[in-house]
Amino acid sequence: MLSRFPLPPGSTIGILGGGQLGRMLAMAAARLGFDVVVLEPEPDSPASRVASRTIHARYEDPDALKALAALCDVVTFEFENVPAEVVERLQMLGAVAARGELPPMVAREVEQIQMLDDLAAPGERALAVAQDRVFEKEFFRSHGIPTAGFAPIATAADIAAALPQLGPRALLKTRREGYDGKGQTWVEGAGDAVAALARIGGKPAILEAAVPFVRELSVIAARGRGGEVACYPLGENRHEAGVLRTTLAPAPNLSAATREQAEAIARKTLEALDYVGVVGVELFELADGSLKVNEFAPRVHNSGHWTLDGCEVDQFEQHIRAVAGWPLGKTEALAQVEMLNLLGEEALDWPAFAADPSARVWLYGKREARRGRKMGHINRLKPLR
Ligand code: AMP
Repeated sequence: MLSRFPLPPGSTIGILGGGQLGRMLAMAAARLGFDVVVLEPEPDSPASRVASRTIHARYEDPDALKALAALCDVVTFEFENVPAEVVERLQMLGAVAARGELPPMVAREVEQIQMLDDLAAPGERALAVAQDRVFEKEFFRSHGIPTAGFAPIATAADIAAALPQLGPRALLKTRREGYDGKGQTWVEGAGDAVAALARIGGKPAILEAAVPFVRELSVIAARGRGGEVACYPLGENRHEAGVLRTTLAPAPNLSAATREQAEAIARKTLEALDYVGVVGVELFELADGSLKVNEFAPRVHNSGHWTLDGCEVDQFEQHIRAVAGWPLGKTEALAQVEMLNLLGEEALDWPAFAADPSARVWLYGKREARRGRKMGHINRLKPLR
């Protein structure tokens, strides 16, 4: 079959989700000559204000998905809690159109839908694995990638049973829909099992052994349609109250062995999922320099925002290049970057950041500076040492 890729400029890229990641993806896509259509339930989203068109609907809305498939040459997502079935449905709409199997009644739509095999990238498998912390850990384990010890949890009795292997203190996280440290709580021994499960809303969960990490790192990597892989230098991440505060990249004092381990983990993950696009893999570094994976995000990642000013081709352009079937761009760091997230009302200090010649300012256009909300970030550059 003739490949539709690389997509020429003038093609249309769909993005599920209208947050800041979608906004920066849309800006990168526009720079390469693509049009962008955003599917987002909320009105007036950060991405919709830079995209050429927005469909306001729930992700599951079948008419909205049909409209998106008809408008777009490829569809990607900025948000990993898009239901995996939605991406599967898009894939199907694309494949059916490609094979000309639609009944005659909808023949006119086929013309509009064009030939859309491989419509969604990354695929539904990456999404399904990343959405469930137990599937995710099992996936890493099955590929020989080290993680914290863990046990699936349905009841408080499961917690008490798992603690002797994982404990005495272990981290309980909801299997699904936790982010930025939400939906998780430390279990302080078997006596705390019932209360701990109640603290996370009694939801299906995972119990993880406490990892004695010395620092948190992440690797942003991309895989193109031809299977080529490119990794950015690692970032060192500091969190406050579960939310990313700063990324320092390239991570200082990183041994070659640790970097190679991170790159091998990223490559294995991308290949095992037959992934197309950018991924963010969060890592724990132990005292001996070895790594354990915490989790991966099947999308561009906050800890990759430093690449916007620190690399020739940033993570957003890299993702667009990958899903459009273009060659991947260069990932070397051109500068040492400190990325600082602007949370809530901190962004109201924009005049000070604007007046600071050492700060490159990125603001997401969110209307309301709610507490802890990611409103923007600044990148401060220094020459590479
Ligand atoms: P997560 O939502 O999985 O990214 O976790 C949020 C934060 O909790 C991480 O960035 C770590 O600082 C911490 N954390 C997560 N899992 C563990 C673990 N198994 N052991 C120690 N700390 C953890």
